[in-house]
Amino acid sequence: MNKNLTSNDLSHVIAADKARVWHHLTQHKPFESIDPRVMVEGKGMRLWDALGKEFLDGVSGGVWTVNVGYGRESIADAVRDQLVKLNYFAGSAGSIPGALFAERLVEKMPGMSRVYYANSGSEANEKVFKMVRQIGHKQHGGRKTKILYRERDYHGTTITALAACGQPQRAQQYGPFTPGFIEVPHCLEYRAQWDVEDYGRRAADAIEEVILREGPDEIGLLCLEPVTAGGGVITPPEGYWQRVQEICAKYDILLHIDEVVCGVGRTGEWFGYQNYGVKPDFVTMAKGVASGYAAISCTVTTEAVFEMFKDDSDPLGYFRDISTFGGCTSGPVAALENLRIIEDENLLENTNRMGARLMDNLHTLMERHAVIGDVRGKGLFCGAELVNDRASKEPADEKRVAAVVADCMAQGVIIGMTNRSLPGFNNTLCFSPALISTPDDIDAITTAVDGALGRVFG
Ligand code: PLP
Repeated sequence: MNKNLTSNDLSHVIAADKARVWHHLTQHKPFESIDPRVMVEGKGMRLWDALGKEFLDGVSGGVWTVNVGYGRESIADAVRDQLVKLNYFAGSAGSIPGALFAERLVEKMPGMSRVYYANSGSEANEKVFKMVRQIGHKQHGGRKTKILYRERDYHGTTITALAACGQPQRAQQYGPFTPGFIEVPHCLEYRAQWDVEDYGRRAADAIEEVILREGPDEIGLLCLEPVTAGGGVITPPEGYWQRVQEICAKYDILLHIDEVVCGVGRTGEWFGYQNYGVKPDFVTMAKGVASGYAAISCTVTTEAVFEMFKDDSDPLGYFRDISTFGGCTSGPVAALENLRIIEDENLLENTNRMGARLMDNLHTLMERHAVIGDVRGKGLFCGAELVNDRASKEPADEKRVAAVVADCMAQGVIIGMTNRSLPGFNNTLCFSPALISTPDDIDAITTAVDGALGRVFG
């Protein structure tokens, strides 16, 4: 690897990064004494940094993104061919890849009908919030503009997306936020808030309680992650989604599923909600849509919602929104090829098989390490929650959880953790290897974790 770059070139790159780049979600103080890591090359499940160290990537690019693995020449070729043909025209006009990807995408989403392109998950979610506010003004006389989001869920980084943030440390010090967002309780049964048999139904009933408190006529949208990602890899309890759907229907509240992490194969179905038989009004997606080969996000909705934006008797009667780079053709052309790869290589099936293996391995680790209090997951999207004591479930200290992640990194295996978002609860190790994972990859990840847990927790 790095055939064209000398070690001098790479030293220069590291120095330039250290001097000039402000990294995401990073405390830079340590870089006064150590160098930042610079990633240089990837192939399949493997990555190399500027010092030539090789890594097995257990988190698909750090944040659940590179679903089909690194170094896909067919995606690069498709993007290149499209860019020299037509790189861009504003999204007020159509494009060949935009039309063809929308058609293919909606085929995977029975009941959905229209695709709105932008560039990031945050933006895709904000499009929904704007659409719902406009529906409230147009259809409900200015009511039904409030939006419900859930404790522990995350929907993006902008000021409005942070208004819908159930992870306090992401939002602290960035207010004031956009008004009209209301939190409902999380549904993590391991940290049950109600002592009942039918936990899924009870957790969903808690949403109804908030709706009744705020007034059903004020609430236009319920926004949920199908499986909560950074908030602790929270799979929904039995019966939860069915009850959520009933509640939305009862109070005429639109249902928005944020598939930014789960979307396009990660959970072993095309979309996370399809594991639970949900019928959403809006679905948003970003990360896995083009596996990070190009920036693209999609806000997908039903024909019924779309119809509400076709009032040509009103000069304000259409969706008055544009994202400049939503007109880039690189996104949908990469997404089309990404979809083809997932189909042709049977990656949904592989995700289910490898996900089952990952869960089995994590359960075996749980037998060996008392510090693992719970393991959860769907497909290749799994978490292991670390606790000081299984009886009290006191969360393990964030620094020791981070030490496990660092130990794996030193072994050449990248895993993740809930990251400074939930005070006291940044104690879940996260695993989301690419959908192309082999049994050897899965075993190598859990073997590294086994060693790291032994060294950090004894
Ligand atoms: N929604 C979920 C569930 C996410 O996990 C994220 C990012 O991690 C976002 C939305 C925001 O996506 P982006 O960072 O592309 O704006």
